[in-house]
Amino acid sequence: AMAANGIFRRAILSATHNPLVARFVRRYGMRLGAARFVAGETLDEAVRVLRSLNAKGLRTNTTLLGEGVKDEATALGVVDAYIEILDRIAAEGLVTNVALKLTHLGLDLGEEFAYRNVRTLVEHAAALGNFIRIDMEESTRVDPTLRIYRRLRADGYDNVGTVLQAMLYRTVQDLEDLLPLKPNLRLVKGAYLEPASVAYPKKADVDRNYIRLAERCLPNAGFTAIATHDERIIAHVIDFTERHGIGRDRFEFQMLYGVRPQLQLELVRQGYRVLVATPFGTEWYFYLMRRLAERPANVLFLLRNLVKR
Ligand code: FAD
Repeated sequence: AMAANGIFRRAILSATHNPLVARFVRRYGMRLGAARFVAGETLDEAVRVLRSLNAKGLRTNTTLLGEGVKDEATALGVVDAYIEILDRIAAEGLVTNVALKLTHLGLDLGEEFAYRNVRTLVEHAAALGNFIRIDMEESTRVDPTLRIYRRLRADGYDNVGTVLQAMLYRTVQDLEDLLPLKPNLRLVKGAYLEPASVAYPKKADVDRNYIRLAERCLPNAGFTAIATHDERIIAHVIDFTERHGIGRDRFEFQMLYGVRPQLQLELVRQGYRVLVATPFGTEWYFYLMRRLAERPANVLFLLRNLVKR
């Protein structure tokens, strides 16, 4: 099943760039169940979802979906949209921070441009007492992302964090290099299609590396977000933090909106901090395809809805 999953995952992630697949999924995806993973297409819809998650004791982050922006005007529009999102979160009193992608803020147009855009948002969030997490994208983005993260920290901003991916060989070293900054880090397995020259092809190796990274990060980072739905890893982290006396304010579990909602609530019930990553917006295509690649059953879920219509 493990090998089959790897093949499935690569097939879906490759199909993402097929124009026919893109056209079909963009046209029917929302009706077929993308709404399970996306909190609506507008900020108003997202706010309703965020409020109801908060009411259940779940923390949240939100993301305006989009990536790979290729022109300055669009990227600057994304900055404005995030200013509005941060202001709205404050006005509504939501327990919600922001997670964003640097290619949405124009990283492909230049590292300096993306840095200035994200700095504007981190500064705005700081004034509101909020926090920005910089998501991690393809392996080619890791160096610029970590450089921008370090620059923001050197500028004196502490309300910013980033993400490390257990699938990449380099991550163990990246973590060591970041730890002196007492960083706020989210650990994930990694959602992108990567060559064996940079990433573990076998899931078992990714899982093993995740545990190794978590055991190094939890006691030594400023804050650790354990972002996974993997119950084995979650149980391991619970056991590890108890044995090492790592307080429940030093880490949190993070899961995706629409994935394992019962497990999210069960962890809250046990007294753990849980954050649900809750994206919204019309540009949900790439996000949805990554969620489909993670689980064959999700493709069946969409196809069943297609047959039912
Ligand atoms: P898996 O071993 O893939 O899954 C474990 C179990 O979880 C599965 O058996 C299944 O029961 C359940 N599950 C997993 N995925 C799904 C799904 N899509 N639908 C239904 N059930 C599922 N990746 C990045 O590369 N960069 C990021 O910045 C990033 N940020 C993330 C933020 C959060 C809060 C989360 C939860 C994930 C993020 N990811 C990111 C994605 C991550 O890299 C994985 O692709 C994703 O979390 C699936 O892996 P898993 O850890 O849940 O483990």
